[in-house]
Amino acid sequence: LQAEIVTIGTELLLGEILDTNSAWIAQRLMTIGLNLFYTTTVGDNMPRMTQVLRQALERSEVVITTGGLGPTVDDMTRDAVAAATHRDLYLDEDLVREIAAYFGRRGFTMTDNNKVQARIPRGARIIHNPVGTAPCFAVEFEGRVIISLPGVPHEMRHLMETEVLPYLRAHFGLTNVIKSRTIRTCGIGESAVGAQIEDLMGLSNPTVGTRAHPGQTDLKITAKAESEAAAMALIAPIEADLRRRLGDFIFGVDEQTLSGVVARLLAERGQTLATVETTTRGELANQLAEAGLKVEALLGGVTVASEAGLAPALGLAPADVTAWGFPSQALADAAAQAVRARLGADYGLAVIGPFDPAKPDAPPVYFSLATPQGLVQGESRQGRAGPSGRGWLIHLASDMVRRQLLG
Ligand code: ATP
Repeated sequence: LQAEIVTIGTELLLGEILDTNSAWIAQRLMTIGLNLFYTTTVGDNMPRMTQVLRQALERSEVVITTGGLGPTVDDMTRDAVAAATHRDLYLDEDLVREIAAYFGRRGFTMTDNNKVQARIPRGARIIHNPVGTAPCFAVEFEGRVIISLPGVPHEMRHLMETEVLPYLRAHFGLTNVIKSRTIRTCGIGESAVGAQIEDLMGLSNPTVGTRAHPGQTDLKITAKAESEAAAMALIAPIEADLRRRLGDFIFGVDEQTLSGVVARLLAERGQTLATVETTTRGELANQLAEAGLKVEALLGGVTVASEAGLAPALGLAPADVTAWGFPSQALADAAAQAVRARLGADYGLAVIGPFDPAKPDAPPVYFSLATPQGLVQGESRQGRAGPSGRGWLIHLASDMVRRQLLG
């Protein structure tokens, strides 16, 4: 069974807004075992839209459109679907009342052009839209089905989850479930991971694939089976195998983030952390805070934008800072200890390095973690620029804390 997505809107075509709908729909279609072979974007033009929909219906059993269901003249999806499936549009009086009620609940009066939204291709199955004004519909046509959803992402997602996916499963008798599990690693690069799991990457069900992010390599195990439980049963032994091979390089699964894991480990132990950072510009503390670190666990973060700021911010003697040199391991150690002491935290984490580590002659970035037992040190000479470079440093620093907390 083959599916196809058509996103509709001239602003998408011109790049004024980014098409996020098709990526989201693609992932959801996969979970019910539908193969997606084409995604097309077409502007608000009746002949071209009709042509694209006709072509889609020729080669795919399931066509999903988003956008163009609004009340204005450039919203032509209804007309194009009717034309592509050789039928006319009728005004559905029940839907008119439904739209009027939607406006009424919000204290607005429905204008006449909103009635246009209640025009539905004859014979279509109506999909009621409780989260917006645009009614949606599915037209079953020569053993195929074309489903039109709103462009507004949250409306589209709601209708996909509650109406469209259950409908597609029932209509086509789809029993397969595709389930995946993402194993997240840090401190080991994608090629090193690849080398350790080469044999697993040749499997067909489940499949195993890798994906690299700054400072993090993910492994995705994906299984196709008759039920969720059966899919999980295929995934479990592969996950166990990956855990044996990759050990403590694995920091979490699925939605877990490294900052989140560090936050949870600290909270579980009732311990606290304080940070001081230069190169990472406060993003380390920000990520830990965003990860939901309890206020008591992240005591605070000091961000210093220049070498001159370090001594006054941390209460260090300027002469000492000069003697250690900026940046240096000794300075990072002193900064970690100072921030730990000043904030009264169990751990002090310092990331001290040049503000632009990508410059050709830039010195390394030094890490130091001051713990109740002493110092843990590290350094990075990666010299990567921009947010992804900082992402690397944040991962390296966070991983020092994770490993320390796990002993
Ligand atoms: P409604 O009648 O509920 O406004 P609609 O079906 O008429 O929905 P459009 O007018 O085509 O939808 O788009 C509404 C808005 O939804 C756009 O301005 C854009 O912000 C967003 N949108 C539309 N299509 C997409 C898409 N493919 N990806 C992400 N956002 C989109």
